[in-house]
Amino acid sequence: MSGEYYSPEGEYLRRVLDRRHARREVAAAGWWSRRRALGRLRELEESDGLEAVAQRWARELLRTEIANAWARTSRHSNEWHPRLLERLPGLAEEAAAEAVLQAGDDELLHPLLTAAAAEQIARENVDRVRRVVDDPTIYLLRTTTPDGDPMVVLQHAASGLRGRFAVDPVDGLGDVFSKPYDIPSINPDNPHDDGNRWELYAGLGIGRRLYLAAAELHPHIRWRAGIQSPYAVPLRTRLHNADPYHWAGHCAWCSERRIIWREAGPAEFSEHPITPAPAAITPRLIEVTTSSR
Ligand SMILES: [Zn+2]
Repeated sequence: MSGEYYSPEGEYLRRVLDRRHARREVAAAGWWSRRRALGRLRELEESDGLEAVAQRWARELLRTEIANAWARTSRHSNEWHPRLLERLPGLAEEAAAEAVLQAGDDELLHPLLTAAAAEQIARENVDRVRRVVDDPTIYLLRTTTPDGDPMVVLQHAASGLRGRFAVDPVDGLGDVFSKPYDIPSINPDNPHDDGNRWELYAGLGIGRRLYLAAAELHPHIRWRAGIQSPYAVPLRTRLHNADPYHWAGHCAWCSERRIIWREAGPAEFSEHPITPAPAAITPRLIEVTTSSR
């Protein structure tokens, strides 16, 4: 209850009801109490901050609706993927129309729920996420697995996205573990980053940068697919399509030819279609010597 009460919607509705009440008091007042009722209404109008709260609630409505409109057209894309900008102003118009429907007959909100405002919100959010994504800093920790085998941890500084990369001593294949919330932060400036905000930055190329940086540290290793989160599947497919011998991934071309990835030599991929997938931003690797906690 208290959460809703203090949400932008709750704050807004509370003030609307207070003013409505004050106006009713004025209308119902006799001549002897009218001046006091009017005074109370004026005081509310000057000091309750209704306009600012309406702005906040309108922005929240538009933000939600533009994210919804984008999700309807591009399922599984990042919420603020830069490609969203290519769909403006269409998405903004859709979002504003939806927000107006939700506002019903609210005359204070309607003028705020414009496509121009929705577009502005979309651009702000895309920029905010892009600033995080464009940060080139990646921390590197050389450590060992619980069994004492070498392992590296890579963590993108700004987003907290991270992965563990180890080579299986038995078969020599590389393994990737990339659940950020299972890997303690190695960022010396943010040792308590628990990685729980990873979804905000998934699907924007940071994972690819981490995987490619790990591969560069282990130039002769082939990386098996193992168990993948749904978010890692498209990433693995891209890596496989760029370098099928070194990266396992779901692949129609390989399954049609019944290629068993782990047993296949480089020659079996010689005719494989290749789509390069270089890191969009050259990483700046900073080696740290200890996990932060
Ligand atoms: Zn393939």
